[in-house]
Amino acid sequence: MHITTEPLDLHLRTTFTLATGSSDVRHNVLVRVDEGLGEAPIVPYYKETTQGVMDYVAQVAPTLGDDPFQLEDILARLPRMSAAGRAAIDVALHDLVGKRLGIPLYKLFGLNPARAPETSFTVAIDKPGAMATRAQESGMPIIKVKLGAGDDVAIVRAIRNATNARLRVDANAGWTREQAAAIIPQLAEFQVEFVEQPLPREDIEGFHWLKPRVKAPIFADESAQTERDLPRLAGAIDGVVVKLMKAGGLRGALRTMAVARALDMQIMLSCMVESSLGVTAAAHIAPLADYADLDGPLLITNDPFVGLRYEGARMILPDGPGLGLQTQ
Ligand code: MG
Repeated sequence: MHITTEPLDLHLRTTFTLATGSSDVRHNVLVRVDEGLGEAPIVPYYKETTQGVMDYVAQVAPTLGDDPFQLEDILARLPRMSAAGRAAIDVALHDLVGKRLGIPLYKLFGLNPARAPETSFTVAIDKPGAMATRAQESGMPIIKVKLGAGDDVAIVRAIRNATNARLRVDANAGWTREQAAAIIPQLAEFQVEFVEQPLPREDIEGFHWLKPRVKAPIFADESAQTERDLPRLAGAIDGVVVKLMKAGGLRGALRTMAVARALDMQIMLSCMVESSLGVTAAAHIAPLADYADLDGPLLITNDPFVGLRYEGARMILPDGPGLGLQTQ
């Protein structure tokens, strides 16, 4: 199989500020394996780089072989260094297999696309009034509010006053234990559904410390990279945020989901800042999730692909072969 990479620069509609930093553009990588396509999202927080992913793909190219149907063997041979690179290769191989078989990926996985949950829409960190305006103007019924870098309670109050949308919050590892224990109870009056990654990535003990001190459901994102991270979080979290980029692709995401179910955790399927390529791949397995946070294409201005469509918060999966993508 022939594999190539090219840069895929995505421009954000508004400066995207999280507890971990700000960006106006993300420098992702497009990966082609024959006629299959995959996307490696480059997230500064995870210390991946555009060049690093391109080098990784070039390095593993000779190990791919000729048969895309031997997915498990091919993926097992990939070194673990780059989760984003592995995710892009995994998605490109699945796209290729679906195209060779002439069926969409959700069918390959045996899934009913009507079961995909509605997606949230992300409002990144800004002044409380600006965040409230963005939430209101989106018209979306589920808003994910980024917190952890400022006046968190004022932000959620302003958004609650501006919209009746369901609210979820994501601190992106931005709070200490004491801050989390103080802030989370104050969010109850604004009907926040759950709190994502309140604590630093490494503070697993902190999740166990926090759990009995707050009522709101807690989800882990940065602390839960793969299924291997879940057993030590069991009992301390209510749900896990699954992303292809963390799990190393669709197959890794399915493994993470299976382990999460065995540990009685709920599942939110989410994305990074990604084009319709990476997000449509995730959407094909969204029927297995309780919640979806797959709004990447809504956050960027130069999406090169058409795949997943949105009717408000409802996600409509394409039914073409493989990912079912078309170029703009
Ligand atoms: Mg998150």
